[in-house]
Amino acid sequence: MLEKFSILDLQPSQFYLSETKLQAVRAWFDPQDLTNFDPISIKQLDGEWIVVDGHSRLFVAYQEGLTHLPVVLEEEDWNWDFYRFCTEATKAKGISTIADLWTHILPQEAYETDWIGWCQTVHDQHFSKRSTMNTIDYITKLTTTPSPTGFTKEIMDYVVTETQNMGYAPIKTPKGGVLVTVKGQNDNQHRFITAHLDTLGAMVRAIKPDGRLKMDLVGGFVYNAIEGENCTIHVAKTGKTISGTMLMHQTSVHVYRDAGTAERNQANMEVRLDERVTSAEETRALGIEVGDFISFDPRTLVTENGFIKSRHLDDKVSAAIMLHLLKIYQEEGIELPYTTHFYFSNNEEIGYGGNSNIDAKVVEYLAVDMGAMGDDQQTDEYTVSICVKDGSGPYHYELRQHLVALCESKGIPYKLDIYPYYGSDASAAMRAGADVRHALLGAGIESSHSYERTHVDSVDATERLVDAYLRSGMIE
Ligand SMILES: [Zn+2]
Repeated sequence: MLEKFSILDLQPSQFYLSETKLQAVRAWFDPQDLTNFDPISIKQLDGEWIVVDGHSRLFVAYQEGLTHLPVVLEEEDWNWDFYRFCTEATKAKGISTIADLWTHILPQEAYETDWIGWCQTVHDQHFSKRSTMNTIDYITKLTTTPSPTGFTKEIMDYVVTETQNMGYAPIKTPKGGVLVTVKGQNDNQHRFITAHLDTLGAMVRAIKPDGRLKMDLVGGFVYNAIEGENCTIHVAKTGKTISGTMLMHQTSVHVYRDAGTAERNQANMEVRLDERVTSAEETRALGIEVGDFISFDPRTLVTENGFIKSRHLDDKVSAAIMLHLLKIYQEEGIELPYTTHFYFSNNEEIGYGGNSNIDAKVVEYLAVDMGAMGDDQQTDEYTVSICVKDGSGPYHYELRQHLVALCESKGIPYKLDIYPYYGSDASAAMRAGADVRHALLGAGIESSHSYERTHVDSVDATERLVDAYLRSGMIE
């Protein structure tokens, strides 16, 4: 603490005071006794001593005739650029000492709009720390935003806002995907990179006589994978959500002999609503109708030792990586060697997410999607998986060998694999007639299309490879 700093040597960093706050200080302030006086928090910025906190106390002390006050140096790593901005704005109003605030005292309400509101706006527009999102933060944000295929507006709007805040000009395509084009050094040959943000889900197929819901699945998975999972009904009629659980009709072992053996299928599985309903009429009265989307509880968890669990790591891990790289390229002013289209697709789980919106100049197409794990698979949760062939056939040989070479030269741990029952947006693009070199890679996802898991090591390896690829030269 620096004892007794001269009051008039301090530059205020705010240009309004609240009459209410001043009254509150006057109620307890005793100029004869500073033993309980909290020191004024100050900071040296550009050679000037700035008041960080304590403008009201400073003003009252000055009014009471004091010339010096106890101060403390602010050691915390605050957003000093923001304070610089506020100080400049204060000076611009002719305020260079606390005495100048005499004509800037406002009733509480005006203080809140003209000062607090001003700070909020300036902070959000120019100094927001929003951009400190890292890949794991994006994974959490994306997996906890419901987006079954066909119901992806909310998550796509988020991507639009987020990339706009980064400084890009995203385009929402008619079918609901988001395209962010980043101009590169070479604008004649383009790259296209995609991840999908639609997930598995379900739709209300019918309302049963007992008020429960029959489901129709959206995407390729088995009923076993969702038994006992909590879910959300997105009621189209009201715009509201209703919670429930997906269960076998014959769940209670106290009543049903075949609780364990009955087939998990559309006829036997249903949604139990968290509402007091026992008839179809009562359920309909909630606004629920055939066609309402059902999203699954993602149960996103990141363990202390780095495992990431969630229902929808496929393919939100990859989308998170793309968002994070976009952020880094913008913040660090990195110019990519080729104009690159970042496409967040919304129809992959039903087979045609990224088969459109491909610029005629695109010659390389990279799908970033989950690596499949299981018997005969080399893919694991700690490396990046490069797909050599899936259900659609082999991927472009030279391009995948380019990816392998990047891993080798940069020490990125990787695995090569065939995904037997799998198609990607890259293969969908090929089927749709795109004449490009296509490749597929992604983080290793355990128990895919069920309660999935990966590890931060796999996310890291995948991000490093995607980054290395986007900054690399094209193969001939
Ligand atoms: Zn996927």
